[in-house]
Amino acid sequence: MLSAGFPMLPFKLVYSDAYYLPIGSHVFPAEKYRLVRDRLISTGVAEKEDFLEPQPATDQDILLVHKPEYVQKLKTGTLSPREEMEMEIPYSSDLVEAFWLAAGGSILAARQALSEKVCVSIGGGFHHAFPDHGEGFCMIHDVAVAIRRLQRDDKISTAMTVDCDVHQGNGTAAIFAGTRTESVPLPSVSGSTLNPARPPRMRGAHAGEVFTISLHQHNNYPLYKPPSSIDVDLPDAIGDHDYLAWLDNALSSGLRQFEPDLICYIAGADPYREDQLGGLDLTIEGLKKRDELVFRVARARKIPVMVTYAGGYAQNVEDTVTIHSNTVVAAKEVFS
Ligand SMILES: [Zn+2]
Repeated sequence: MLSAGFPMLPFKLVYSDAYYLPIGSHVFPAEKYRLVRDRLISTGVAEKEDFLEPQPATDQDILLVHKPEYVQKLKTGTLSPREEMEMEIPYSSDLVEAFWLAAGGSILAARQALSEKVCVSIGGGFHHAFPDHGEGFCMIHDVAVAIRRLQRDDKISTAMTVDCDVHQGNGTAAIFAGTRTESVPLPSVSGSTLNPARPPRMRGAHAGEVFTISLHQHNNYPLYKPPSSIDVDLPDAIGDHDYLAWLDNALSSGLRQFEPDLICYIAGADPYREDQLGGLDLTIEGLKKRDELVFRVARARKIPVMVTYAGGYAQNVEDTVTIHSNTVVAAKEVFS
């Protein structure tokens, strides 16, 4: 364990107390962001000076991804009951502010990553938000907003999303659909005991400027999974070894055909074996190895990487906090 007195992090963390989502008692532990920040400080991984406070995204930023009609409904509190139900979190104007802030945090983290190789936002990763609606606890797609904003500012032209949340990144896939081509099986993983009924698929070619990778449990929300550039549809109860092999495979395959200016890593904690909304069998150690793998690949190829947290619903919230904190520890170890 790293102790207090170690040098400051070689990168910044983006965090605000206002990342808290005012959704009351909910399976989504909205207090996790503050708990992760506190854990990082109490364990000496980070100091107060390592944290940057984000500003909310502007409406113009949000409109780079989301439809004006949807943004208008959010700002005026005029979602239909069905639209609110689909979001699965209770609407409030405070919640709208929290999502605008999450998007601002992702913009800041992406900018920081370009100058410091890596940056972690202790929040964000709302990958189930679509241009015209929210679902699955996600109102605004903060990562997509960050990519579009940096493209608009000519800071990047291409990006790759690497989504390791247990749930498929349906919003991400829909937003960056690009040109659809016939999908082909990923090359098989040598040494893997995994023999999925439905082999992982990869689109044959990619003409878009954002390449999307999603590793997720096949038998889980969302029921309909719009095609990502690479979808790895994992069978139930897959463990550390096979998961890491497929991640390595997907990253290699993706980076063979696409050179991103930025990697947006969506580091969901819900592939964890004790997650209430996930059915994979990863350990806390395996999840840290997952983070290290993404960071090592990004570092070796000199591609900046920004990180967001997405889901995490462990029975014991302290486990979710450990998994998210370990993502920062892994980044510190790889980038120091
Ligand atoms: Zn999830």
